[in-house]
Amino acid sequence: MSAIWIEDEVQPAARADFKIERETHKLEKRLCRQVGQAIVDFNMIEEGDKVMVCLSGGKDSYGLLDILLKMKARAPIHFDIIAVNLDQKQPGFPEHILPEYLTKLGVPFHIENQDTYSIVKDKIAPGKTMCSLCSRLRRGILYRVADELGATKIALGHHRDDMLQTFLLNLFFAAKLKGMPPKLVSDDGRHIVIRPLAYVAEKDLIRWAEHKQFPIIPCTLCGSQENLQRKQMGAMLREWEKKHPGRIENMFSALQNIVPSHLMDGTRYDFKGLKVTGVASEDGDKAFDEEDYAPPVLPGMQVVKL
Ligand code: SF4
Repeated sequence: MSAIWIEDEVQPAARADFKIERETHKLEKRLCRQVGQAIVDFNMIEEGDKVMVCLSGGKDSYGLLDILLKMKARAPIHFDIIAVNLDQKQPGFPEHILPEYLTKLGVPFHIENQDTYSIVKDKIAPGKTMCSLCSRLRRGILYRVADELGATKIALGHHRDDMLQTFLLNLFFAAKLKGMPPKLVSDDGRHIVIRPLAYVAEKDLIRWAEHKQFPIIPCTLCGSQENLQRKQMGAMLREWEKKHPGRIENMFSALQNIVPSHLMDGTRYDFKGLKVTGVASEDGDKAFDEEDYAPPVLPGMQVVKL
């Protein structure tokens, strides 16, 4: 009888647990690998850096801090981390959550209290979106805090899907081929801002937050409408991901594989000064031929030769 119990009931449950554990381990490895790769590819963190990790209480910034702490423990260089939260005094903001979480984690942190909520409410007419003034104020405050803390890098929790959404927003609404950079110099010229989650998919951050049970603080406390166009871009990307596997990955790779000679920006490529070289090139442009767009080969897919 006990053998039947073990065979039929206990073992499948144990197998399911083992599968979840293995998947979680794979997820952790992937997150660390992708963050490590982004750090190396864009030289985001250097010896002696003090990285100010901006923590909002959302899943992305929790994930960023969590993975950066793992990277710090195993990195070949020394760098410091300080977590910073800007308490904007939104109604109902649970101000005890982050200090408790960070104290338990043993991470140095700073909570900056600034009532930007009242300023924004005062200046913006009811019903109008408050986000642009709110984020401008937040940016200025975080730059000042970075100076005061002696931070050499400011790390933000934007991920691959944020970057693709920004790229599409610029394409559709601002008529620009422009995305969200993994590393930049701030507009005041004094800070290096980094996005170590640049290669990380949002769905992985959602799973990681569930696994780690981060104490998420809702991002709707200000009562402002979320950016509707960004939400639409996100929905479109998720739809594509379902219907056209590989498209999102290809779009993201395209951001790292730009061919200015095949776009139309005369400031990036000297079309006016173009001259014949007289030398044939295997990689040269075959202007009359239709390109061969092979479908992406995804893990688990077989290439069928006809
Ligand atoms: S959603 Fe609220 S907190 Fe976030 S930027 Fe907009 S106004 Fe500010």
